[in-house]
Amino acid sequence: LGSSITRALVRMSSATVVDEKALGDCLNEITRALLQSDVRFETVRGVQANIRNIVSLDTLAAGTNKRRIIQRAVFSELCAMLDPGKPAFVPTKANKPSVVMFVGLQGSGKTTTCAKYARHYHRKGFRPSLVCADTFRAGAFDQLKQNATKARIPFYGSYMESDPVKIAVKGLETLRKEGSDLIIIDTSGRHKQEAALFEEMRQVAQATKPDLVIFVMDASIGQAAFGQAQAFKQSVSVGAVIVTKMDGHANGGGALSAVAATKSPVIFIGTGEHMDNLEVFDVKPFVSRLLGMGDVAGLIHKIQDVVMPAAAAADDQHQQPDNQLLAQLAQGGTLLTLRSMYEQFQYLLKMGPIGQLLSMLPGFTSELMAKGQDKEGQAKIKRYMTIMDSMTDAELDSTNPKLMNESRVIRVARGSGRQVKDVRAMLEEYKRLAKMWSKMKIPKNGKMSHLTQN
Ligand code: GDP
Ligand code: MG
Repeated sequence: LGSSITRALVRMSSATVVDEKALGDCLNEITRALLQSDVRFETVRGVQANIRNIVSLDTLAAGTNKRRIIQRAVFSELCAMLDPGKPAFVPTKANKPSVVMFVGLQGSGKTTTCAKYARHYHRKGFRPSLVCADTFRAGAFDQLKQNATKARIPFYGSYMESDPVKIAVKGLETLRKEGSDLIIIDTSGRHKQEAALFEEMRQVAQATKPDLVIFVMDASIGQAAFGQAQAFKQSVSVGAVIVTKMDGHANGGGALSAVAATKSPVIFIGTGEHMDNLEVFDVKPFVSRLLGMGDVAGLIHKIQDVVMPAAAAADDQHQQPDNQLLAQLAQGGTLLTLRSMYEQFQYLLKMGPIGQLLSMLPGFTSELMAKGQDKEGQAKIKRYMTIMDSMTDAELDSTNPKLMNESRVIRVARGSGRQVKDVRAMLEEYKRLAKMWSKMKIPKNGKMSHLTQN
């Protein structure tokens, strides 16, 4: 979802004239991306209409930047889509203990997230506890027990009883007596037949009357999110969503669908396997990531100031950008030298830990600085630069990949105090980027991306 919308915006920003047609095309692509992500047609139509309203209103004012307005409109519309308009139930330490039931398919992260959730409220002064009502998966109780012990949370379960409803009811009763004020019920995510799973969820909910049912989804399910969420919503009244595995490569586009299907908000995101890897959901960074924009609010400026100072200036004053590589890119068919890669690295380091925004510089995001690995990425870049410091001018300015033969590689390794394999890794990276950049072309005016617009 993110990448297709970003592509649409980038194309929009490189269009020389932004007219009705360019806007229409851009909106159509955004629409298609949303539909492909299984967001309901009604919702998508609403988004499209709203964007049109905002944009056409603003285009009336002279001197406004339409591309930027569209970008903002898409951003705020996606934020709005993630806001179902009513907040989720929040556990209270009132007279009666809160009951929260977790549902979701097997592997989505329920058991792990239950414990994280308990721990979160434990820190807030609650006395949470866990019930294992998953009798389908062998070892389910052991897993919950282990997590609960790690998080120092009381728990209830049974190796003998096979009826999840009975366990849930008994668990509530027992844990209430023990003085727990937040009882969390973990459930099964699989059954011999799907219908049986939903029937089981309905029965557990009916017997335990949870204050909140949380639908847990894996960030990577994408298109399947709507169907899954809807299926659960039809059997139990889902009131909140948690998106897990946000530390992976998926950026959680499916959350939009889950929110649409359940009409409930995302409340937390899971960011790792560890008990502490649970974050309160924050819509703006989430949407930024979805759109591949990094933290838009704070970072657009940084990008403009640091990465593209010359290009941005050139855009205003019709001058040649003095970022040589970008200038060359404008010509197309760029032959990347090691020296220009070195200079690009310098730019990147100046930007600090905002690797996600490197999508502006093609090739750098995906492998060199993968999402969530800015530190590693920076360390790698510094290592590469140290290696390049031991290269001769001729080597740095060469565009012949064969120049760096065995004996040169060994010499550079020795000179930089690195191993031969490190030098080779750097050269591999160079080859990969050189290949990619040779195919790139950006417009002469330096309008490489919507992010450079003001
Ligand atoms: P369940 O079948 O829904 O109960 O899912 P589990 O809680 O057993 O989780 C399935 C797998 O996903 C386990 O290996 C978890 O450690 C892992 N997992 C859960 N949440 C996260 C997360 O936020 N990040 C990562 N990386 N792994 C997670
Ligand atoms: Mg489980």
